[in-house]
Amino acid sequence: MASVAFEADRSAPPNLMIEQITAIRPRRRRPAHVCARRPSLAKRLTTGVALAAFVSGQIFTASVHTAQAQVQAKPSPAVIRDTEIEELMREYTRPILKAAGLSAQKIEVVLIGDRTFNAFVADSHRIFLNTGALYDSITPNQIIGVLAHETGHISGGHLAKMREQIATAQTAAIVAMLLGVGAVVAGAASGARGVGEAAPGLLMAPQEAIRRTLISYVRSQEESADRAAVKFLNDTGQSTKGMIETFQRFANESLFLSRQVDPYLLTHPMPRERIIALEAIARESPYFDKKDSPQLQFRHDMMRAKLAGFTERPEAVLRRYPPSNTSLPARYARAITGYRHGNISGAIAQIDALIAEQPNNPYFHELKGQALLESGKAREAIPPLRTAVALSHGSALIRMMLGQALIQSGDKALADEALQELRQALAKEPNASFGYRQLAIALGRKGDLPNADLNSAQAAFNEGDFKTAKQLAARAQRSFPNGSPGWLKADDIVNFKPPKIGQN
Ligand SMILES: [Zn+2]
Repeated sequence: MASVAFEADRSAPPNLMIEQITAIRPRRRRPAHVCARRPSLAKRLTTGVALAAFVSGQIFTASVHTAQAQVQAKPSPAVIRDTEIEELMREYTRPILKAAGLSAQKIEVVLIGDRTFNAFVADSHRIFLNTGALYDSITPNQIIGVLAHETGHISGGHLAKMREQIATAQTAAIVAMLLGVGAVVAGAASGARGVGEAAPGLLMAPQEAIRRTLISYVRSQEESADRAAVKFLNDTGQSTKGMIETFQRFANESLFLSRQVDPYLLTHPMPRERIIALEAIARESPYFDKKDSPQLQFRHDMMRAKLAGFTERPEAVLRRYPPSNTSLPARYARAITGYRHGNISGAIAQIDALIAEQPNNPYFHELKGQALLESGKAREAIPPLRTAVALSHGSALIRMMLGQALIQSGDKALADEALQELRQALAKEPNASFGYRQLAIALGRKGDLPNADLNSAQAAFNEGDFKTAKQLAARAQRSFPNGSPGWLKADDIVNFKPPKIGQN
């Protein structure tokens, strides 16, 4: 593994940034319209990861969120932002989307920080993927198969049909049904109860009837998505084997309903017949035994190592990547867990060794900057982050981290550079709350309080915290000249009305 060259030529930076999701943002004068159509992702996700596959996500989200907040105080899954992983996902999806004729649709993969396996589409622009699915997939081909299947749901127009079907059901009943399934998934994921045990108590008529309709509806679509996936894989000269491997695992899991049921089984029913039908067409592929390229496998291994380093306990990381394993992925995982758990000087030495081996890998420089920044060494973090920005061809996420390091260095001479980096980053990533927050701090230090307030308001707004957003925006608005661009932006937020239930 260590001898495989890493291709650091993609325009993307790394760092595992966990942040609130930011699907809403007032772009024009009418943010309410935008938001009614694109409710906060955070809210959508709060309805339960497994459920979004059934629902378009555009209808009930706001009130489901409220209802669930009362029912169970379950934190919403965080969206994971990481350029290294996002770049790899783009690499995996690009050929598939092209084969599906969806290249123009700008479909992105949104990563959810959740250890369970799940993948689903909730609208025609996003494929949601749990990091657990990445972690569990040993080859790129396995996850590419899952992505091809999700693309099959999008290209098949399944979402629009589901929306229609849901629109005929009574809203309140659907909400109750969703909460029921959400609780089942939560229970199953935590190992508290098996699906079989929890379901009957939670899903009662008429919710049960709706659930059956929706699930049978989804079932009828699964084979169509499978067939589409096989076609996309064949058209792009990729193996269908990984998809079969993944689905077979779930088919077996569904036979032995155990405590640990992945939500993927609920979003994608896997009756035996479906797998048999899929296998029959998949094995006809001339590419069935084709392997992923060593370069792609390497990047996949690096991604899994990174996820381990950032999300697992140090003991678990060392079990999976013992010191005897001197491959780059293993060293990457150990360096990350080292800095995350307090051994900063040891970790920096490990990262420096990685950099010595691959000096043009932007993600190693980014990791060094992140490790230093999070250890309170903001000034020392600046040079590696600058290098990472350059090597990544200007990654917005790394720019935001550089902006943060420039601010935290406390050096007033660096304030303008921070502003510049953050503005450039936000131009590319206009939904990133983190960037607005940093920008607010930088503006505050420069004494520009109205714009600092406005950016803080924007950050809160993007996270769905409308109350705070409105307070901050109102304060900013009082300081701006009436009708000025800042005043108008603040006005959008002040007058924003969250979407109501039943709005379509
Ligand atoms: Zn499916």
